[in-house]
This record gives sequence, structure tokens and C-alpha cells, in this order.
Amino acid sequence: MTQDLSQGGVNNRPIYSLVLPIFNEEAVLPILAKRITELLDQLDGPCEAIFVDDGSSDTSVIFLREMVNQDSRFKLIELSRNFGHQIAITAGMDAATGDAVIVMDADLQDPPEVVFDLIAKWKEGFEIVYAKRIKREGETVFKKISANLFYKVLDRMTSVDIPRDVGDFRLVGRKALTTFQGMPERDRFVRGMFGWMGFRQTEVPFERPARAAGETKYPLWKMLRLAVHGIVSFSEKPLRAALWLGLGISLMAGLFGVYALFAWLFKANVVEGWTSTMVVVSFLFGINIFMTGIIGLYVGGIHAEVKRRPLYVIDRLAGFQHGAEAEFD
Ligand code: UDP
Ligand code: MG
Repeated sequence: MTQDLSQGGVNNRPIYSLVLPIFNEEAVLPILAKRITELLDQLDGPCEAIFVDDGSSDTSVIFLREMVNQDSRFKLIELSRNFGHQIAITAGMDAATGDAVIVMDADLQDPPEVVFDLIAKWKEGFEIVYAKRIKREGETVFKKISANLFYKVLDRMTSVDIPRDVGDFRLVGRKALTTFQGMPERDRFVRGMFGWMGFRQTEVPFERPARAAGETKYPLWKMLRLAVHGIVSFSEKPLRAALWLGLGISLMAGLFGVYALFAWLFKANVVEGWTSTMVVVSFLFGINIFMTGIIGLYVGGIHAEVKRRPLYVIDRLAGFQHGAEAEFD
């Protein structure tokens, strides 16, 4: 999108590209390097693994640079700061040259073995193959419940088919990838974007193991932010709800006005109504602020879009064709 790294490498162009976002994963990288090397060795064609360092503050980058030096199939994109999981994935997919691009988490919660199942479905002619979690291990009850709730709300709120219990572990073909690269939105909810584009899509079930090492890089606030982004960028329902709620409340307020008028006409001591007035006023005020907040979310989205900033900034590249790297050195 912003930087076209997918040119070059005419001979030996990979069929398979793996994309792995990395944020402070030093604990897991040694095992990951081993497992990914094994996976690449077993794939039935030329392949590459693109690691995207999402502004890690630990020693991840040093390890990654070392990995890239040792295996020519490894490539590294170092972003200039932490841009977030969804953007890191985007940066990796922009650079991928394969016919099939596989996005997976770095913590081995997306088991490399499943990649073979994804590829098998792709060969059957599916353009997008999701890996669907049928069991989650090593995740807290809270995470399970909140994830469940998130999918439910998302399903209700959006008109696009966003598959349930599907994370960002998936395979996408060239056509879907090109379509994705033509979607410039800043507010990226990647799995929703793939749901939106159509094509033949299918799922492959897998059991999600616990993290191989380290801790989750998705604290509650990041999950909430992702949930809000997902809803706001794929649904106008909150805005419509604001309209109907506003209408309903106005109607009630109108009826109350009529009642107040009659009370004034037929009763002597009107001041008595102070309590109900306060209740109504504070209720309306609360609703008002809430609705302004919803509108603010959308306006904020528009604001972010019109700035037309690049989605991410690359600091350094390693393992790519010389032409591409020279631009950044
Ligand atoms: N990640 C990232 N940027 C971030 C947060 C996470 O690139 O700001 C990466 C992280 O290194 C991992 C993947 O996104 O490869 C998923 O993160 P994590 O496993 O912590 O999420 P969880 O599985 O707990 O939902
Ligand atoms: Mg994880």
C-alpha cells in the first residue's frame, strides 16, 4: 500500500508467504524460529516468512535480525513504533509475494500444523480459509466470556458476515490479498474486511493451545478498543439506535409536557413536581451525552480517514530484495 515491497524476486517467487506480527515476544522467539523453519521445510513449494516487528521494546528485534541472517526465506519489517496487531498484519501482507498468504500469531497459539489444512482447502479452490477455534486452552474464564460476548455483539450489530471464533489466523489467496490492499481504511478490523469482500470462503477447525511462552499482548483495553473499532467500522446500527432512542425519548418528553400542562391547569401547587423534573432532566442529559459519544466515535473515524496518513511507518527492512531495502537505509 504505502511501500510496495512485493516487486522484485522474479525468479524463485514464493508460493506461500507466512506473516507473523511480533510485539515483545522474546520469550517465544527461539521456539517459534524452530517451528517455522520446520514448517517451511515441509511446504510443497518456494516460501517465505515475513516477521513484522511492531515496535517491540525487548530484545525481539535483535533475535529476529539474527534469524533473517541465517535463513534466506526469513524477512523482517521493523515498524518505527507500536502500531498495533491489525496494522502489523497489514504491513506484512503488503510485503508478501506469495500466491497464498498465511497470517498467524507468533506465540504458537496458531499451530503451524494447521497451515497444511488451510493450504489443502486453498487448493480445493477457496480464496479465503479461516482457522476456527473449537477449543481454547490456557485462557482465563474472563477472556473466554469476553470473547464470546464480543462475537455475539458483533454479530448482532453488523450486516457483514464476520465468522465466529475466528481470529486472524487464516490463509488468503492473491485475489483476496489484492482486494485487501485496495482497502485503504485506517480503522482496520482485518477479519471484518475479509468477511466483507466475498469470494469463496471456508473454515478449518482447530484446537487453540495455550501460549507457548510469554504473556498476552492483548490487555483488556486493547480488546475493548478492537471491539469498538469492529462495530463502528462495520455497522451504522449505533447511529440508527441513537435516532430511534432520541425519537422515543422526545415522544415521552412530549407526553410529559402535556401532563405538566394539565397539572398546571387543574392543580394548585405545581412546585411539588421537582423530583420528577430532576429525574427527567438528568435522564435526558445522560442520554444526550451517550448519543454525543456515539456520534463522536464515528466523527473520530472520519477524522482519522481524512488525514490520509500512511497506515504504518517502516524503520528498517532485512532479508528483502536489495532495491526495496535501499530505500530505507
Ligand atoms: N501483537 C502485535 N502488536 C500488538 C499486540 C500484539 O503485533 O500491539 C502480536 C503479538 O506479538 C502476537 C499476536 O499479535 O503475535 C497476538 O497477540 P497475543 O497472542 O498477545 O493475543 P491473544 O492471543 O492473547 O489474543
Ligand atoms: Mg496469543
